[in-house]
Amino acid sequence: MIKANDPALKSWIEVDDNCDFPIQNLPFGIFKTQSSSPRIGVAIGDQVLDLAVLNKFGYLNNLRIDDAIFTNQYLNDFIALGKPTCSALRQRISDLLNESNAELRDNKEAREKALQYISNVQMLMPVKVGDYTDFYSSIDHATNVGTMFRDPVNALFPNWKHLPVGYHGRASSIIISGTDFHRPKGQTKPSDAEVPVFGPSKNLDFELEVAFIVGKQTALGESVSTEQADDYIFGLTLFNDWSARDIQTWEYVPLGPFLAKNFASTVSPWVVTLEAIEPFRTEGYKQDPKVLPYLEYTGNKNIDINLEVSIQPENSTETTICKSNYKFMYWTMEQQLAHHTVNGCNINIGDMMASGTISGPTPDSFGSMLELSWKGTKPLKLNDGSERKFINDNDTVIIRGYCKKEIVRIGFGEVRGKVLPAL
Ligand code: CA
Repeated sequence: MIKANDPALKSWIEVDDNCDFPIQNLPFGIFKTQSSSPRIGVAIGDQVLDLAVLNKFGYLNNLRIDDAIFTNQYLNDFIALGKPTCSALRQRISDLLNESNAELRDNKEAREKALQYISNVQMLMPVKVGDYTDFYSSIDHATNVGTMFRDPVNALFPNWKHLPVGYHGRASSIIISGTDFHRPKGQTKPSDAEVPVFGPSKNLDFELEVAFIVGKQTALGESVSTEQADDYIFGLTLFNDWSARDIQTWEYVPLGPFLAKNFASTVSPWVVTLEAIEPFRTEGYKQDPKVLPYLEYTGNKNIDINLEVSIQPENSTETTICKSNYKFMYWTMEQQLAHHTVNGCNINIGDMMASGTISGPTPDSFGSMLELSWKGTKPLKLNDGSERKFINDNDTVIIRGYCKKEIVRIGFGEVRGKVLPAL
């Protein structure tokens, strides 16, 4: 048995060098086809491996996982089996897909039933999200926003470097990649108006984020330390936290985001396990001032994930407008989780916690239109010659992400969403 993360591993399924899903990745998702109900799949190359079929054929017998787990509509019950079981399953799949393993490779019937092209299946929401929390943990993003709206000299609020600022979002409107939605309407107050007006948002924005999915629940009153936190994180997805800036500006005082944020957030379908991205951990920011003891951590906890955002206007080609990286986070996931639970707030399997907009230090790495166009003062030019200050109707926004070290590329696939005109 070769460890599932070993860079030397090769599968008998052909995988392109630039593919997000080599044998070292094996992310989990939920899919269905025209003839099958929702079930758990694992991505390998351009195909999806049907775990319900594998279990029926007896390939997963040693793990003693009930058939029903694999035909669930969500990953939650699977995740609830615990990290040792999920990890053993990932290892077993790695063994089955290994080029030197003939068990599945040479069983034509099982192989044909268990493998489908991803392009032929429909991906569904991977987890049932009970609660959604959004942080604000990129120092460049927070500094940019503070500079634009407050004071360049004191861009960060006094609390920012002492705790990972966040707010409770809304789970009901988290949607799977590929789901179109209508431009939100709401109250805004134009700067030259005396009273607010109602109508479609004029400043619709994306937010480049990565979300982690809680993999273990806690009881009310219990806290998770930074040291324990990784046990409570199942995996990560890409996340577009759509935002209506004009609605936000008017409504957010004093309680924070509300209708500017809760109309849609789009998530990528493949959950990349924390285990698969452990090799890509990297050093974080030196946190100065020193954080309180419950937020201290040791080791490398940031993760080197290349991120990029494209806009594709209707009937046109994509333009890449931003290249950023998850390593630019000031606060780590472990600190976010420790802070979230330090007061005894309980968490549940399937909860999503998003990073907040991930901006890097250079203008081409800013993770929102608000920053890229600097509040609309510097329009972006797209390949088709058109300009954008914010997102237009019928634009599709696509976020992609991957880790890469030497030959191994652990990708997240993509999250895309199209903005339809307001209803
Ligand atoms: Ca956000």
